[in-house]
Amino acid sequence: MFEPFWRGPIGESATLVIPGWQTMSYFSDVGNLCWFLEPSFEREVRRLHRLVGNAAVEGYHVLVGTGSSQLFQAALYALAPPTADTPLSVVSTTPFYSMYPPLTDFLSSGLYRWAGDANTFDGDDYIEVVCSPSNPDGSIREAVLKSKSGKDIHDLAYYWPQYTPITQMLAHDIMLFTVSKCTGHAGTRIGWALVKDKEVAQKMSKFMEQSTIGVCKDAQLRAAKVLGAVTDGYEHQLATAAGGDANLLFHYARRKMAHRWCALRAAVAASGIFSLPNEVAGFCTFTKDTVTSNPAFAWLRCEKQEVEDLESFLRENKIITRSGTKFGADQKVVRISMVDTDEAFGIFVNRLAAIK
Ligand code: PMP
Repeated sequence: MFEPFWRGPIGESATLVIPGWQTMSYFSDVGNLCWFLEPSFEREVRRLHRLVGNAAVEGYHVLVGTGSSQLFQAALYALAPPTADTPLSVVSTTPFYSMYPPLTDFLSSGLYRWAGDANTFDGDDYIEVVCSPSNPDGSIREAVLKSKSGKDIHDLAYYWPQYTPITQMLAHDIMLFTVSKCTGHAGTRIGWALVKDKEVAQKMSKFMEQSTIGVCKDAQLRAAKVLGAVTDGYEHQLATAAGGDANLLFHYARRKMAHRWCALRAAVAASGIFSLPNEVAGFCTFTKDTVTSNPAFAWLRCEKQEVEDLESFLRENKIITRSGTKFGADQKVVRISMVDTDEAFGIFVNRLAAIK
């Protein structure tokens, strides 16, 4: 979805050339707690958050991971006590991101294990994963469990202005972000964590050190260049007061997402057998206007009684989706990507509108 933006005027400034002699060492900054973190990447992460105002960076450690997927695992490792008799429970409100259970249980760790829906969890010791805005249903979430000894991981992959109004500067203990959802560069495999507590940050860094001896420097440099181009686009726009949004990633992507949500709602109305979550609006402190949220996924429900397995029903109609069952929900609901290419999205809404 973001590719046309990066093919535009700003794409050139995100081009990176790495000569053969560069980025050869394991080390990036031996004085940093996260010694494999490229200083330019850290600088651009902090600069972008200051521009958007979605998360606090003052007093936080920045950690880099191979996608936020690696940082999620690092956070589980860092938060689970190393000497407990039983694995610590990892929970999240249903519907939850479908990768949380397999990422948690893949290695059958003795430190932690997936324990399902946070709303039905009973106990004081846990890690609650809070994904906001939520993948899959786009809702804004807060932790539902409130015990003193419980720990939270906030997965803020979608807390960017193209998906939701930025309503506050979040300042949670562990906040995860990724270039995949922010700029669209999923293949660069770079995510970052903002971590308040030094000891937790050290343990997370240790996890990356043990699993992959750090994180690809070339990818970090590319991510730094891409994030820098986004911030520069805004700073340049302010300086020149030029019109249009060709240089403004979040404005460009928000406009596109809003068009797509309009097209999807029209298709759902034309079909008559589906329903979507209600539209929510809020004041965005970044763009300084009231806007509706445009989630990266549509959580589509079928109201027709005879359709029991919506994923299979849509597949018969040549639409590939992910069943609600993978997210801890039922079979009559599916998750649909709203961030595919223009072409795929166009075909999808036409097919959906024609289903009666
Ligand atoms: N968290 C959420 C909520 C996601 O949707 C995704 C990607 N689908 C990730 C984390 C993982 O992102 P990354 O590409 O950085 O590993």
